Amino acid sequence: MLLPQQAEKLILDLVEPLTAQDTETLPLQAANGRILADPVTGRLDIPHWDNSAMDGYAVRHADLLACDAQPVTLEVVEEIPAGYLPQKTLQPGQAARIFTGAMLPPGADTIVMQEETRRDGNQVTVLASPKPQAFVQHQAEFYRAGTLLLPAGIELSAPDIAVIATVQALQVAVYRRPRVAIFSTGDELVTLDQLATNSLLQPGQIVDSNQYALAALVADAGAEPILLGAIPDQPQQIKQTLLQALQTADLILSSGGVSVGDYDYVEQVLAELAADIQIRSVAVKPGKPLTVARFSSPHRALYFGLPGNPVSALVSFWRFVQPALRKLSGRAADWQPSFVSGYTAQRLRADGKRETYFWGQAVFVNGQLQFQLAGGSHSSGNLINLAQTNALAMLPIGQTQIAAGELVQIMLVRTL
Ligand code: AMP
Ligand code: MG
Repeated sequence: MLLPQQAEKLILDLVEPLTAQDTETLPLQAANGRILADPVTGRLDIPHWDNSAMDGYAVRHADLLACDAQPVTLEVVEEIPAGYLPQKTLQPGQAARIFTGAMLPPGADTIVMQEETRRDGNQVTVLASPKPQAFVQHQAEFYRAGTLLLPAGIELSAPDIAVIATVQALQVAVYRRPRVAIFSTGDELVTLDQLATNSLLQPGQIVDSNQYALAALVADAGAEPILLGAIPDQPQQIKQTLLQALQTADLILSSGGVSVGDYDYVEQVLAELAADIQIRSVAVKPGKPLTVARFSSPHRALYFGLPGNPVSALVSFWRFVQPALRKLSGRAADWQPSFVSGYTAQRLRADGKRETYFWGQAVFVNGQLQFQLAGGSHSSGNLINLAQTNALAMLPIGQTQIAAGELVQIMLVRTL
């Protein structure tokens, strides 16, 4: 049984990220949430030219040296809205009315904000002396043309899209979405498709919930889920499904059948397909029976056999599959789950032998993060009280309890 950190490292080492062959070019408007595949540079300085950061007056600072003693009056020779080319060069004693973002006229070096002036016809009186260069945004102050603007390997979001638009990159190269094949194993399982034609469960049957939960997590991770159904506990069918998955998938997820029961065939099938099994169990609770294998020629894919218990399947995904997906997707960094610390509202107890996860909700109470344990049974078979989970509290190996009100490590699995 591997330690969780060992398993995490092993898994990340097994991941082969998407490469330059796995990219697509998208219009910038369609690139939100995607991973940038090529660095972005711009052809123009930002700002493109000296401009005003305020509504006010463009002036020559030298004209206002006397201003501290008494107000100075200047002649307003021009009005420059944003988007217009200044027509005049400021001479001594002159000012130009200017608006935020407008180009500085030649000769001007300082902006006096409107609030510090009094206007009278074509004259403006400056009431307080500005600092030299005040409220001037200088050409290239924010970005120098030709230098690196954004590196490859970052996930694009609104601010990045604004930045890329600013340098007129209409299209961006991003990695394609990783393809993740998902199937469930178990004779007892009935899929939603099957229920659509016959909504009666036979005695002993249950609904395959893992497949849909995993598909949602895969999509949330920016990958493309490929649903391959619920497969009976029959080695031949599991093998066929794996072969089908290998045709397209970068990563394969199955749930169920990885324990040591008589009907757990996954390991046998992996061996028949010459997959290299690297992990069989990890010291986490829930989620101990985790199988990780690497397929090689002719099709390469990383395989995760998750436990069938719904809670175990999801915890294993959050703890081990998500980091792999993040690396696979072309992200350059930040693969591992992030833990934050917060106060637990209830006492948490574990046996100390495995890294133990508790599901519930992280909420802000009086500005502090608090973990509230889900009510009801904390059994890995209970998926009902998993609803609305946004966080997992974690007790590391060796720790048997945390009292209510104490700090606990919290893994956020949804944005708060
Ligand atoms: P297994 O890992 O196959 O031994 O399954 C462990 C438990 O999880 C059993 O009670 C299964 O019925 C249940 N289970 C397995 N797969 C699923 C699934 N896809 N959806 C819901 N429950 C499942
Ligand atoms: Mg089973």
